[in-house]
Amino acid sequence: MIFDIKRYAIHDGPGIRTAVFLKGCPLKCWWCHNPEGQGSQPQLLFRANRCKAFKACIDACPRGAIRWENGSLTDWETCDQCGKCAAACYPGARELVGRCLSVAELMREIERDVPFYDQSGGGVTFSGGEPMFQCEFLRESLYACKERGIHTIVDTSGHAAWGGFESILPLVDLFLYDLKLMDDTKHLKYTSVSNRLILDNLRKLSSTGAHIIVRIPLIPGVNDDRENIEHSANFLSKLPSLDGVELMPYHEIGVAKYASIGKKYRLESNRMPTREEIEAAEAIIAGFHLPVINHQPGRTK
Ligand code: SF4
Ligand code: SF4
Repeated sequence: MIFDIKRYAIHDGPGIRTAVFLKGCPLKCWWCHNPEGQGSQPQLLFRANRCKAFKACIDACPRGAIRWENGSLTDWETCDQCGKCAAACYPGARELVGRCLSVAELMREIERDVPFYDQSGGGVTFSGGEPMFQCEFLRESLYACKERGIHTIVDTSGHAAWGGFESILPLVDLFLYDLKLMDDTKHLKYTSVSNRLILDNLRKLSSTGAHIIVRIPLIPGVNDDRENIEHSANFLSKLPSLDGVELMPYHEIGVAKYASIGKKYRLESNRMPTREEIEAAEAIIAGFHLPVINHQPGRTK
């Protein structure tokens, strides 16, 4: 199941890419900017700013989960994500996110942009959610890409069975691998899972010689302290091979999505890191002789 396909993506690896977002993720990161991609089933999204007050959703809902109070309101406890209100919503304020595609259907969408990949050195990036969550579909899609000579990237949290990584290894040109927190107690608090499997998989993946860029989300007050950055860099510096380390500064894109799916955003009062804070963290990482990649694609320092 896929919840989005973004064509002409330029921040998900080299060149012009198609980013394919697979639904379902075992993590629940507090800062996740794709919360609609976390669940493995279709997810109702309601964007109040698109509502034109036709009120067709109220009659369409078989569970009586929608009422009108200065606008359309959803009782998320009662809603079972059936999508009937979305089908009745002409302006598209209500949308059921998540559709099942076959590999052949996905490839038809991907192949439309092959000329852009060829000209720009781009390709396809499988993201999510956690793409390894649908490992069989991912493997078949990667295989279909490689059959057509398309460059492939898998953007992963690393939280998946090692056997899954082994099975896709020959089909992946580059892994974008997230490293969020080295302290396991904090990792559990902020992502809902332990980091042990993630660190183990990264060690194993690196020992295969796979191309890996490790991406660290830089989140003020969560993981931007000197201790975590040093601990992360120290761990990474001991890996047998690594193409680079990229900081992904926290941003607020996606915060509004939480209200639209009836969830609370738990980093409400957070802020973006300053340029000085980003550079200070990059300097710590570079001090461990690791290649730091500026988060603008293509610029390495
Ligand atoms: S998705 Fe939820 S709110 Fe919409 S019709 Fe179904 S139960 Fe009602
Ligand atoms: S791993 Fe990524 S998709 Fe999953 S919850 Fe964390 S930020 Fe969201």
